[in-house]
Amino acid sequence: EQPLLEISGLHTSFDTFDGKVRAVDGVDLAVHPGKTLCVVGESGCGKSVTARSILRLIEDSGSIDAGTVTWNGDLIDGTGEAFDVLTLDPGDKRLQKLRGGDVGMIFQEPAASLLQLRTVGAQLVETLRLHTGLDKKAARAKAIELLDTVGIPDAARRVDAYPFQLSGGMCQRVMIAIALCANPSLLIADEPTTALDVTTQARILDLIRSLQAEHRMAVMFITHDLGVVAELADEVAVMYLGRVVERASVEELFADPKHPYTKALLASVPVLGRDRGRDLPTIPGAVPSPLHRPSGCSFHPRCAEAIAGTCDVEAPPEVDFGNGRTAECVLYETEGVRA
Ligand code: SF4
Ligand code: MG
Repeated sequence: EQPLLEISGLHTSFDTFDGKVRAVDGVDLAVHPGKTLCVVGESGCGKSVTARSILRLIEDSGSIDAGTVTWNGDLIDGTGEAFDVLTLDPGDKRLQKLRGGDVGMIFQEPAASLLQLRTVGAQLVETLRLHTGLDKKAARAKAIELLDTVGIPDAARRVDAYPFQLSGGMCQRVMIAIALCANPSLLIADEPTTALDVTTQARILDLIRSLQAEHRMAVMFITHDLGVVAELADEVAVMYLGRVVERASVEELFADPKHPYTKALLASVPVLGRDRGRDLPTIPGAVPSPLHRPSGCSFHPRCAEAIAGTCDVEAPPEVDFGNGRTAECVLYETEGVRA
């Protein structure tokens, strides 16, 4: 089936006092209608920057240097053609339609993403009216219903609250309600439940799943929580230092991880789905700064299977095992096809 969204050869960098940081260094990903892609990896591996690059929400110090982000949504629903989001004019209507409409986004910092001087209800009603065509009264009723669904107690009263009057967890739920209100065909969620209690977390994952079942919403879910991956993912992409080092279905990834980094991540997750709420196990050594990227395979200083004289010198090939399964590691050079 045709992917809803296809990222190809994405490079995003940031200027810092110490030099240029290649945060995303050649990423290829695809998300399919009705499916969940989990992007997993330690912090600083480029997951969030990849997500933000899709709708070009990169700070001023950053730039998207290369790649394409192909949106096939309009083609799939018969309303238009496929297009590359990265080449759209900033004023292009299609970009506005994606942001908050066809693509709902939930970020890590709710306080920064909500407008502090407008009520929760006003922000929801505006998004609803812009993208769904509901009238004011219907939009307000829908807003209250959504706030209730994401677990905000006394939603009929809190709809008129300002974000600064709400706790961080409440703001997080409001952001989730805003992201979901226009029935997006893609939801991009960056660690959306990390700050929430287990009950609310479960409720929000259930809500995402039911929306997915109802109208084939695709989900790109960024997390470092392997329990959430086991529970939610269809496909998984493992990132390390700005690159996708392994891609697999969730079953294959847990049953037969290929990349030594993936193996290390999974080393202490014995039973699928049992470890919700658990962070990635610690792997010896720290993630190197993308400013001082190791030579050869960037995982080699931490890799239990590194081959001296090879892994520290040569960038590993990306090996394609078929069926969307890949690993970027020299150990599989003879097993699959070089991608
Ligand atoms: Fe380890 Fe070498 Fe594979 Fe890199 S290429 S993951 S260092 S074995
Ligand atoms: Mg992040």
